[in-house]
Amino acid sequence: MTPLVHSKQTIGSKLAVHIVILCVFCAFSFALLIKQYQEQKQQLFNNYSLGVKSKVEASLGVYKKFSNFIYQQIINNDEVMKLFQQAANSDGAIREENRQKVLDILNPTYRLLVKQNFRQLHFHFANGDTFLRVHKPAVYGDNLFSVRESVRLANLEQRIIKGFEEGRTFNGYRFVYPVIYGGEHLGSVEVSLSMGSILDVLYELYSDKDFYFIIKKSAVEKKVFNDAKTNYISSSLSEDYYYDKGVFEQNVIRVKDRTLVKNVALLRKKLKDSIDSMVSFTKVVSIDGVDYALRFYSIKNFKNEHVAYLIVTSKDASFNQLFNKFLIYGILLLLVVITYLWSVYSDFFHKRQLLSLSNTDFLTKLYNRKKFTEMLHLEILKYNPEQSVFSVIIFDIDHFKCINDELGHNVGDEYLKELSKLVSANVRDTDIFARWGGEEFVLLLPNTQEGDALTMAEKLRKKVEAHQFSSSKHVTISLGVAACIAQEQKTDDIIARADKALYAAKSDGRNTSRAWSHL
Ligand code: GH3
Ligand code: MG
Ligand code: MG
Repeated sequence: MTPLVHSKQTIGSKLAVHIVILCVFCAFSFALLIKQYQEQKQQLFNNYSLGVKSKVEASLGVYKKFSNFIYQQIINNDEVMKLFQQAANSDGAIREENRQKVLDILNPTYRLLVKQNFRQLHFHFANGDTFLRVHKPAVYGDNLFSVRESVRLANLEQRIIKGFEEGRTFNGYRFVYPVIYGGEHLGSVEVSLSMGSILDVLYELYSDKDFYFIIKKSAVEKKVFNDAKTNYISSSLSEDYYYDKGVFEQNVIRVKDRTLVKNVALLRKKLKDSIDSMVSFTKVVSIDGVDYALRFYSIKNFKNEHVAYLIVTSKDASFNQLFNKFLIYGILLLLVVITYLWSVYSDFFHKRQLLSLSNTDFLTKLYNRKKFTEMLHLEILKYNPEQSVFSVIIFDIDHFKCINDELGHNVGDEYLKELSKLVSANVRDTDIFARWGGEEFVLLLPNTQEGDALTMAEKLRKKVEAHQFSSSKHVTISLGVAACIAQEQKTDDIIARADKALYAAKSDGRNTSRAWSHL
């Protein structure tokens, strides 16, 4: 009999095992999914960053070759070099005269170079003094070593120095060539171009992207002449950065997608922390449902200090596509989990229902005889006369046959149901009430002596007697009571004694209660 009680626990624990397995599976799968998503997103970021890096470096490479060509073909020739050598080894009038001569030779070429975005052609002697600025011939004689690291290094180490450097009047890429002529170190020549030139090449090469350039205010303020500060305007992207005015004005008309320009306030807020970090970074910003990839390429000076950002932007659907792909995976996973959970739960529910049906009386919904016997069996097993005594009441409707005969079987059924409800409402929660069969019912009263059970039986008898049944005919019941005794081993024994008491109650004229010990 006990296996059925076990089977209810088994169903419950099986469900618990399924739920635990499902939770572990869910946690593991979602963790894996999120990890995969983050890895692939990082991969996209890396690819994008690498792409931008190679684009910028390729553009710089173009100018490097160009500037090498300028130096070799236009400057490093006997005519210019002899004049430079003479100037380096003299002063006063000869130096003045040679400055003018070199200027005259280079001026036509310089004008052409300006059209190719070169900005400066600058000769310095080995001690750092300016010999000639082709781009600004009136200013010379000043020493550059303290403000122009590139010039100092080129002369000190006699090697070509190239890279970005903020300068006193403008900033940009500088190529500084040490000049050795006839075995003599004369000084250096600088060919430089603005960031605008780099942006020109980038715009020419990459039609799907926009490019911007911002420079740190502190870098500019340290070096730039006060009168040259008008070359800069405050950047709306960050309070710590300037736009190079020339680059900005040239750029503002060719920006292909103006969405980012229009939403600069939003970008300023979203990118503040990253911009403050002063290292290269990539961010994806969504505006009106469209993703924009923004690469901030950190530009460093010769001291390896971050001084500016070259910003590359473009619409990029790949981040959104990746997100959608993983969203679909997530939804599918969730569907699998829900389907599994639903099937496990419906199986559990079905089994519970079957179990419940097998324990329930169909008409009254009370426990049936089988279930009652199981529970009585458990109670007998637990029985300990010192600690707990339990009793059983068995009762039977008096002359029920007459009800059936007079009112019909269906009305008889209604009587049985109504009586079940009435008794259920008048017993303790811990009492077990069941239909024994036909119009006979049983009650198991835990922790109840026979005397108390008899009182309970009387109470029930009176309730039934007083009850107005729906079909207005009163019924009465007869009840037999028996308490468990020590030598009782089988459920049948206590039932048989209670039944005996019931039989006595019937014999006594019905509508009465009798206890087994008083027989
Ligand atoms: P008493 O117990 O007082 O001696 O008389 P009684 O008429 O109740 O006695 P008996 O046990 O002979 O008859 C019981 C009747 O209960 C017979 C049967 O038709 C009826 N009965 C048993 N089960 C059901 C049921 O499920 N529905 C209905 N309507 N009647 C039932
Ligand atoms: Mg009867
Ligand atoms: Mg009967």
